[in-house]
Amino acid sequence: MPYLHGPPGLQAHPVPQNARTTHSSGQSFEQLRQGSLQTGSLFEDVDFPANNTSLFYSERSQVPFEWKRPGFWQHSEWLDVVIDDRLPTFRGRLVFLHSADHTEFWSALLEKAYAKLNGSYEALKGGSTLEAMEDFTGGVAETFLTREAPQDFYTILGKALKRGSLLGCSMDIRNAAESEARTPFGLIKGHAYTITGLDQVDFRGQKIELIRVRNPWGQVEWNGPWSDSSPEWKSVGLADQKRLCHAALDDGEFWMAFQDFRAHFDKVEVCNLSPDALQEDALHRWEVAVHQGSWVRGSTAGGCRNFLDTFWTNPQIKLSLTEKDEGQEECTLLVALMQKDRRKLKRFGADMLTIGYVIYQSPGNDEHLDKDFFRYHASLARSKTFINLREVSDRFRLPPGEYILVPSTFEPHQEADFCLRIFSEKKAISRDLDGTVDINLPEPSQPKPPEQETEEEQQFRALFQRIAGEDMEVTAEELEYVLNAVLQKRKDLKFKKLSLISCRNIISLMDTSGNGKLEFSEFLMFWDRLKQWINLFIQFDVDKSGTMSSYELRTALRAAGFQLSSRLLQLIILRYADEGLQLDLDDFLNCLVRLENASRVFQALRMKNKDFIHLNINEFINLTMNI
Ligand code: CA
Ligand code: CA
Ligand code: CA
Repeated sequence: MPYLHGPPGLQAHPVPQNARTTHSSGQSFEQLRQGSLQTGSLFEDVDFPANNTSLFYSERSQVPFEWKRPGFWQHSEWLDVVIDDRLPTFRGRLVFLHSADHTEFWSALLEKAYAKLNGSYEALKGGSTLEAMEDFTGGVAETFLTREAPQDFYTILGKALKRGSLLGCSMDIRNAAESEARTPFGLIKGHAYTITGLDQVDFRGQKIELIRVRNPWGQVEWNGPWSDSSPEWKSVGLADQKRLCHAALDDGEFWMAFQDFRAHFDKVEVCNLSPDALQEDALHRWEVAVHQGSWVRGSTAGGCRNFLDTFWTNPQIKLSLTEKDEGQEECTLLVALMQKDRRKLKRFGADMLTIGYVIYQSPGNDEHLDKDFFRYHASLARSKTFINLREVSDRFRLPPGEYILVPSTFEPHQEADFCLRIFSEKKAISRDLDGTVDINLPEPSQPKPPEQETEEEQQFRALFQRIAGEDMEVTAEELEYVLNAVLQKRKDLKFKKLSLISCRNIISLMDTSGNGKLEFSEFLMFWDRLKQWINLFIQFDVDKSGTMSSYELRTALRAAGFQLSSRLLQLIILRYADEGLQLDLDDFLNCLVRLENASRVFQALRMKNKDFIHLNINEFINLTMNI
């Protein structure tokens, strides 16, 4: 966790006033501090006790750790995670991250706060420095390999510094022995440096790009060209020297030519801050849009494009880029997809899911795109990889236009919440294509006058008389009996049984006279609808399994005129599908009839051209018991 040695930007950020309290007592840091001051005692954190449960969740401790309080220390006041000052030590040294300066406990305390947020110190294993930076700042991290960096790398870093981003750089190590090894140029391998400035100077008639780097140790500096006392500075005008605050101080900070920087350092990490983490007076900021969502099994957990049948069911976000970057033809954006709270779940055996996203050109409408769109259209851009990291982020340059972003897990049916953040240089408009419910049902058909009855209809009347009996009305029980007898004979349906509840729902939908039974004209219309429903089932049971999968259902419902939100679809699956996410004909009819019933009631009750209805408690319960 080398960054925690303290990039200078970190200390400068104030606590956001609305920081959410995380302590179980419900008290904020300030309240807990007052309590400790009043009783004159050192704070002991009951949420994260000084014992092995805070260190490990799976491993038994092999060494007797002793929890010590450091002799002097400071609260890092901008974070409202309250920790006590007990740190795990072994033989008098801090066990986890420690600062080179043994009297500086700031970084270790910060790490403890981070460990507490994530449940235990062990949960941090395998987590990266960038994640820690993101957690502390709410920013989005990017990694650049200097060898593969884009052409305008210098400009990118310059903009990042202007935006107040945190920048770090390092040299790779090939083995543990190389860690912290010093090169002949005075650089330390495997060590995290901070980038603090970027500038250009006139040097022998040429513009030279320079970069300022800081060794957080506060000493040990680069000794090549443009280092503290290097001869190059003698050929630079005093004004330039003054502007670059060049002074040969052995303070760990030094300039180097950007060209040399790229040759010596392997990696640059940038933590892009969102505007709310920056000081009010920061001139350059990213524009940020945030979308929260979830992948839910059976409705929105569609998996990646390899799974064409389900991919289209993933959440889709529409992005409109209208303004080009300053002086450029394209728009820069940074798209970061994060899975939420998985590290806390690690304790219960949950691993990181493999996640990523794809960007498509929008076909120009505001509808959730269907399977055919993805079958026939190639993507425009995508995250570099689908990977099992907490966050996947990449930088893109796209011409102004409208785009569709599809975040997904690699495999379908994997569940998690996610947060998608879009950083853009100029303001971009984005919205979730999943919020709208639109019902478009056919007009109910009118019964025909008896004199136009065909021969088939006359036979049907005879059938009806046998079902209905003397009262000439079909009850739910009579309907159940006849439908089971008829459907049992169909060869193209894997039919088990139609339940009484489905029949009651059917009667509720078709009974226009309101007596709870179907008379002949109602029954005639029902028979027509039944044929449509069964055809729908057969047509959209694409794999001919005899059952409707949750994904087949989504298409079938759409064909029947129901465009539903993800939340509604999730609810339907919970209520009607079995463990394997399948609906048989009975479930399907039950669901379809209820949906139609509810939609028709809504349409009948709503005010003219309005999308809402007013109900009091009596009317509402009356309705729900009836539908
Ligand atoms: Ca220096
Ligand atoms: Ca009736
Ligand atoms: Ca099926």
